[in-house]
Amino acid sequence: PIVELTVGELLRQAAADVPDKCAVISVGPGREDRTWTYAELLDDAERAASWLLDRFQPGEHVAVWAPNVPEWLVLQYGAALAGLVLVAVNPALRDGELAYALRRAECVGVFSVGEFRGTDMASMVQRVCADIPEIRENVDLNGWLPRVRATAPRAELPVVAPEAPTQIQFTSGTTGSPKAAVLAHRAMVSNAAFVRERCGLAAGATYATALPLFHTAGCGLAVMGSFYDRATLVLAEIFDPATVLKGMADHRAAAFGGVPLMLHALLGFPGREEFDLSALTVLMSGGDAVPAALIDGWARAYGVGSSAVYGQTEASPIICQTSPADAPEDALHTAGQPLPNADVAILDPDTGAVAPIGAEGEICARGYQVMLGYLGMPEATARTVDADGWLHTGDLGTMDARGYVTVTGRLKDLIIRGGENIYPREVEEALVEHPAVANAAVLGRRDEAWGEQVVAVVTLDPAQDAPSADDLHAHVRGLLAPHKTPRDWYVVTELPVNAMGKLQKFRLRDGIEAGDLQPL
Ligand code: ATP
Repeated sequence: PIVELTVGELLRQAAADVPDKCAVISVGPGREDRTWTYAELLDDAERAASWLLDRFQPGEHVAVWAPNVPEWLVLQYGAALAGLVLVAVNPALRDGELAYALRRAECVGVFSVGEFRGTDMASMVQRVCADIPEIRENVDLNGWLPRVRATAPRAELPVVAPEAPTQIQFTSGTTGSPKAAVLAHRAMVSNAAFVRERCGLAAGATYATALPLFHTAGCGLAVMGSFYDRATLVLAEIFDPATVLKGMADHRAAAFGGVPLMLHALLGFPGREEFDLSALTVLMSGGDAVPAALIDGWARAYGVGSSAVYGQTEASPIICQTSPADAPEDALHTAGQPLPNADVAILDPDTGAVAPIGAEGEICARGYQVMLGYLGMPEATARTVDADGWLHTGDLGTMDARGYVTVTGRLKDLIIRGGENIYPREVEEALVEHPAVANAAVLGRRDEAWGEQVVAVVTLDPAQDAPSADDLHAHVRGLLAPHKTPRDWYVVTELPVNAMGKLQKFRLRDGIEAGDLQPL
């Protein structure tokens, strides 16, 4: 059955069952580990809820814009207990992207950290919030915890329904502009519980991850799945291979969860053998196709089983998953079977009818796990979740007679680089803002480690001085988060279109592969 719990109740129940068990170990480069027992985390979260309710009303939205600092979790569980909705924002965003996210998600507060990867986030938030009068509190998480701990916990916290929204996650859906997907408590808790059950870990086993908390895979699957299992979570503040390997070895992690890029980087890390990973039994990955060679490489190095997940934010997030008990063919080459309680079908994209066994169609899911909608975008919501309740993923796939799903392609234009989704349209729009760029097409190029790299093909305005690749690089860097900046640049006199005037990216891709396009 569905787990009818709020995110706050999940922690409350775990703290009642195993108060003294270590819930979270936060590891970071060059610093001591920071740990919380379940009782300590609940105490901090209850005080945080009280602190939040002194400033905000239940139902209001507060954003967190930070890497995987443990304060993120205190805020997440504090907000859940207070009935606030947490808006998870990628810390790599630039001014314009952050402003858009805060407005789109109707935030009244924002929590950040002083500095991240050389960006002064506190100043950036101040600059951005100056133009958003709705933001009442702008809080630096460094130094926030002592203030929370000095707050007396309220005797009573609001009653929150499991069907209520708990979190807002940004996704671009099947088209360009970022959308604020609203997810319910019970959807995230249940999904995390089912994924944890399918991955075949022993009860209470320690799970290590470097998945970003601002993705549902981090704050949902990793954290909630671990709490559901009364387990210990080793959480890396950032993805740094040495820190992650040390955290796994020091705390005898039985599982690691990360996007394929992380698995690739850890396996290829020169000092890997110095770390004792003998406790490792299961590797979890997803967010993009998990290459069979990668699963195989880990199996050979450590004898571990694998569990690959397929899903998307709008599905809270996982739809299908392989189990370590699957036959090798299924484990290596499919996205697994639907999770329990998931209604999954392959629908014909043209007619909407259920496709025959083995035939390709759009992967669709229905039921408890489907988002509540895109905030303030009823039309986009209706295009994504149809009148019958089917969530249209924009992914193409097949299902065999046993229910194993294989992802075969995408209806949507999307690049996945190192597990981060990049919508070509957003980058193309940034490029044409440059005075010398007449038109732009952005596409993905296969890359062994990253999955895909971003490539731009531009046409230039002959009336302007021709820009260099460095000029365009700097231009995009000024507007968008670094991971969206194209790595390769080509120039053409005209972009190829079909008779309907539709851009034919496949022709550009073929041209690049054949070496026919001129680098900028
Ligand atoms: P999160 O919400 O944590 O980001 P996610 O990466 O699963 O999780 P999205 O960022 O919404 O979710 O990206 C979803 C898209 O990523 C899917 O629609 C699909 O195109 C692709 N994807 C995710 N998992 C897989 C997989 N196992 N195989 C192939 N493609 C995948």
